[in-house]
Amino acid sequence: MKQSKLFTKTRKEAPKDEVSKNAQLLIRGGFVNKEIAGVYSFLPLGLKVLEKINNVIRKEMNAIGGQELFMTVLQDQEVWKQTNRWSDEVVDNWFKTNLKNGTELGMGFTHEEPITKMMKNHISSFKDLPISVYQIQTKFRNEARAKSGIMRGREFFMKDLYSFSKNIDEHNEFYEKSKIAYKNIFNTVGIGDMTYMTFASGGTFSKYSHEFQTLSSAGEDTIYVCDKCSVAINDEIIEEQKSCPECGNTELRKEKAIEAGNIFSLGTKFSEAFDLTYKNEKGEETLVIMGSYGIGPGRLMGIIVETLSDEKGIVWPEIIAPFKVHLLNLGQDEKAEEFYEQLNKKGVEVLFDDREVSAGEKFADSDLLGIPYRVIISEKSLAEGGVEVKKRNETDSEIISIDDFLNKLK
Ligand code: ATP
Ligand code: MG
Repeated sequence: MKQSKLFTKTRKEAPKDEVSKNAQLLIRGGFVNKEIAGVYSFLPLGLKVLEKINNVIRKEMNAIGGQELFMTVLQDQEVWKQTNRWSDEVVDNWFKTNLKNGTELGMGFTHEEPITKMMKNHISSFKDLPISVYQIQTKFRNEARAKSGIMRGREFFMKDLYSFSKNIDEHNEFYEKSKIAYKNIFNTVGIGDMTYMTFASGGTFSKYSHEFQTLSSAGEDTIYVCDKCSVAINDEIIEEQKSCPECGNTELRKEKAIEAGNIFSLGTKFSEAFDLTYKNEKGEETLVIMGSYGIGPGRLMGIIVETLSDEKGIVWPEIIAPFKVHLLNLGQDEKAEEFYEQLNKKGVEVLFDDREVSAGEKFADSDLLGIPYRVIISEKSLAEGGVEVKKRNETDSEIISIDDFLNKLK
């Protein structure tokens, strides 16, 4: 893609009302556009990153047997009344809307109720279980605070997976697999070493649920880290659980963190409310055991910006970067164009800064956009034998011949 054709422009300053680092950098880079507080549009560069994050998540969800579907935003209030979650006194972040005839509908903030109801059409026998389904879909929540940029949207994306099992053992087996899948996701997108599986309260059906909390000074949560086993405890349960649940260590480190994802055993809470049962081998109607597993892909993108950027801008891990190579032409139009074509032919994702602007502006924008390889083609680099390559997360650059660079990218 030629940068001269990209409709989004970078900005030197972030909007004054935007306090979070992630939104400041993402707006300045032209990745997102702020519509109103907590509501962001994804522009071409941002959408590329988001899609790549989604694909990392998809890969792991598919690997544990998840089947992808896509449910609706608009929700029938009757469904939510079955679990007593329609009332604004019970759920304080509903967005609701009306049909022309006055009937009130909800705009989904999660999907346990509609999915449990839908599954009644598809689960009837022990042969139908276990199954798990997921979606990457827009949720609406009237969040009280919206100061964390895309980490806390009022309209945001969620990957929500729901598991349906015959019994607790089968559920636990899937639950353990989901932990590994989540770890894989956070490792793949470059925040694995800062993200702790965190014990949180489990509700009626299990002692614990688990959150995946990433250390960040911008985090809204407090966690207590056990350095011996690299797990943590959530603020809400530290009163009853004063030591590490894995090793008993009482020397826990207090940290600020942001929840990247969570997994929850639901037991029969929803299956009971909707009478979601299956016939077991003896022909007896038995309640299905459920779990839910969330991750916010947009929040994850925000966390990555928040934790991996430096004073100059964003530093995208290669696997989710909008482009792999940022090619900067410094006055070598013909050579640069030729090189750009070669990269394209090889299928390398390249953003080609072919704009008629100063070298300084190109460098500053390149640092802001955070593409992993900055490649300069200039009179000087050609005289020295090729192009000047610098990785965004390193300080030293090297001159390398065009052929060697092309081969290196294989
Ligand atoms: P939090 O405590 O941070 O509000 P939550 O417990 O409400 O999170 P869940 O309802 O479990 O979150 O949602 C699952 C995942 O969706 C979260 O782990 C997070 O990654 C993401 N998520 C939740 N709320 C938002 C939001 N307002 N904006 C962006 N992502 C969100
Ligand atoms: Mg919340």
